[in-house]
Amino acid sequence: MNKDIISTADTVIANTYKRFPIVLARGKGCTVWDINEKAYTDFVSGIAVCNLGHADPEVAAVLARQSETLVHVSNLYYTIPQVELAEWLTTRSFADRVFFCNSGAEANEAAIKLARKYFHDQGQHERFRIITMEQSFHGRTFATLSATGQLRIRFGFDPVLNGFEFIPFNDIDALKRQMNDNICAVMMEPIQGEGGIRVPDPGFLKAVRDLCDQAGALLIFDEVQTGIGRTGKLFAYEHFGIAPDIMSLAKALGNGLPIGAMLAREQFMTAFTPGTHASTFGGTPLVTSAALEVLRLMEKRNMVDHCSRVGAYFRDRLLWLRDRHAVIMDVRGMGLLLGMKLTVKGAPIVDACMEKGFLINCIQDDILRFIPPLVITEKEIDALVECLDKILEAVR
Ligand SMILES: *Cc1c(COP(=O)(O)O)cnc(C)c1O
Repeated sequence: MNKDIISTADTVIANTYKRFPIVLARGKGCTVWDINEKAYTDFVSGIAVCNLGHADPEVAAVLARQSETLVHVSNLYYTIPQVELAEWLTTRSFADRVFFCNSGAEANEAAIKLARKYFHDQGQHERFRIITMEQSFHGRTFATLSATGQLRIRFGFDPVLNGFEFIPFNDIDALKRQMNDNICAVMMEPIQGEGGIRVPDPGFLKAVRDLCDQAGALLIFDEVQTGIGRTGKLFAYEHFGIAPDIMSLAKALGNGLPIGAMLAREQFMTAFTPGTHASTFGGTPLVTSAALEVLRLMEKRNMVDHCSRVGAYFRDRLLWLRDRHAVIMDVRGMGLLLGMKLTVKGAPIVDACMEKGFLINCIQDDILRFIPPLVITEKEIDALVECLDKILEAVR
């Protein structure tokens, strides 16, 4: 059956992913099963999405109820779950208002459009340039791939959208040199995800905030991967004693339901007026009721604290591995957004882990990324570390 499905998939599905040769059928908590009933502990969680784990019964109940009540009506009308979700997010963040969409790229699109529109409304029509970071990742739509500081993401799609400039992450002098009156915003992930789990140097984000304030430019944080508890705070910016003006969220917001959000302070969000931006599916009652339940459960179950605690434990265990294996160059990340840079390619190690019943992820060829559901336990972490220890033993 495996072979049939995979060979059919390889003729009917666009070949945009290099997929692993397993077909996943169901999940529970941190475990997923393939169609042959082989179990895997999931350290990928759908790429930092399923923070509550798979098939949470309380989320499922809310989804079932809402699907029998009202799924979609468009944003021409008010619906209660959307309003409640926006209230939840704004009372717990710097932001005053929320625009709902369906993905991280769309949330970033909205952020870019809002920043440009804000200065346009001020009569500063030339002020449209946005500084982003090298090795960043902001999505695959035209504006967001143009904002992404990785050539391999933009390759083949020229001409990309005009108006993006790149500086090295952690290089405040480069930002100083690049800043001028035509810069409308600095856009960045507070901790880089796809680009290699890069944590900012102490003081870097504060210095970026200060430079934006001096120049009158907006600060946009892409928290699509870092938001919703992943780093051991609800939002990663909370680690650094500053806040952005605009923030994008997606990935874990719906625990697997497609939802994105762009949050902003009142004075900037007013640049969006009726007709300036829209999304048919943005914030449907179905996805917003699920997202609201996800967030309430995260709070009720103290998941952010749990993430911070087991994340620190996981990090220590990875450092233990580093001390035992010369192929590990370093361990990086915060909370349960962790990475391990190797001197060798990561793909064979990912394959070997899968064979042993663990799903892990490799980025940039040589960085193993660990982004399990936030409900992961120390026992599950120990099992993976033991497995990695054996696998790395054989790698030279
Ligand atoms: C995944 C990701 C995106 C893109 O999100 P999509 O939902 O795939 O469009 C954007 N920014 C960051 C930081 C991401 O990790």
